[in-house]
Amino acid sequence: MILRSLTLDFFRNYPHFEGEFSPGVNVIWGENAQGKTNLLEAAAYLSTASSHRARYDRELIQFGVDYAFVKGEVEARDRTFSLEARLSRGGRRQLFSNGVRLKTAGELAGVLTTVLFCPEDLWLIREGAAARRRFLDSCICQLRPRYAEALAEYRRLYEHKLRILRDWEEHPALLDTLDEFNLRMAQTGALLIHYRAHFIRRLGEVTPAIHRDFSGGREELELGYETVRTVTDPLAPAKTILEQLLAHQESHRRAELEARQCLSGPHKDDLAVEVNGLAARQFASQGQVRTAALSLKLASREIFFRETGEWPVLLLDDVLSELDGRRQEYVLKRITNGQVFITCCEEMDVSRLGGARAFHIRNGALIQ
Ligand code: ATP
Ligand code: MG
Repeated sequence: MILRSLTLDFFRNYPHFEGEFSPGVNVIWGENAQGKTNLLEAAAYLSTASSHRARYDRELIQFGVDYAFVKGEVEARDRTFSLEARLSRGGRRQLFSNGVRLKTAGELAGVLTTVLFCPEDLWLIREGAAARRRFLDSCICQLRPRYAEALAEYRRLYEHKLRILRDWEEHPALLDTLDEFNLRMAQTGALLIHYRAHFIRRLGEVTPAIHRDFSGGREELELGYETVRTVTDPLAPAKTILEQLLAHQESHRRAELEARQCLSGPHKDDLAVEVNGLAARQFASQGQVRTAALSLKLASREIFFRETGEWPVLLLDDVLSELDGRRQEYVLKRITNGQVFITCCEEMDVSRLGGARAFHIRNGALIQ
């Protein structure tokens, strides 16, 4: 898939932007705080209707303005799609594909898929399990609309159950609904585990080879899935997992009521990463952690390609500058397929990257 062009109005620090991109490499360069990341953020927004660094859509709207507009022309599945997002400070955001209003963000999946890699991701391995869950969720959501629905449903149920657990002493009648929420959480949770297990299996087939190349053959990476303890085989059908989740919930019922927290369920899942047989989170060096994180992201892009026959758009924010020369070369060699956006602070020699285009950004505008 290819993002042909992007038009922005009042998105972050851009009063207005229009750009036509290369189907190969696009280098977005300029000094700090000029709008390079904002541009990648806008592109990513069209694929997921969310931002990796904004909690609320209103943060994306230019200060002092009431609305923002993002539009992209995308080529995918031998067709052209015009994607639009209209954000407004007061109202709900609206998404359109070829002029038709979309009901959910999930409907964007499969039109424009992006894989974003930013400096914070260099710490993906070191951070708490939540960061790795976010990575898994964003990958699977873009591949499987049904997963996105289940995840949204699970979050709603989780919030609701949390309120029951917090307030049951003051309002004991709430406990009447607890069983119903437990059952629905276990049903939805079983689906999440099933999808995550299959995705991690794919990831485990693709990532080690990338990591091995990346480390010059010196390192072996291994992945594992850590989920609810009673689940003996996460790859089993959702029905089997459901029984095991219910058993776990039952044994944690008292503890949940006492702790007033949801202790049982896949909201605590983790992706375990080992490098040379040691848990990367505790023992990997800074360089190993970065290599592993980048390998995971590049692997997810390959999985998308194998599943859909299309390369997702790769958004590399400020990443090259953080890597040594050999690793930079490796990344540039690895990304010759599909469309890529790279941000950096200095003008880059793009002549060796065939068909590349450079965009110089200053103060929320393109310098022609
Ligand atoms: P760096 O090289 O430091 O990463 P950058 O070019 O990636 O810089 P951006 O993160 O894109 O910079 O942000 C550029 C500017 O956008 C910041 O100075 C920030 O103040 C501004 N900005 C962020 N949100 C908004 C907004 N809602 N309205 C107006 N300006 C904003
Ligand atoms: Mg930036």
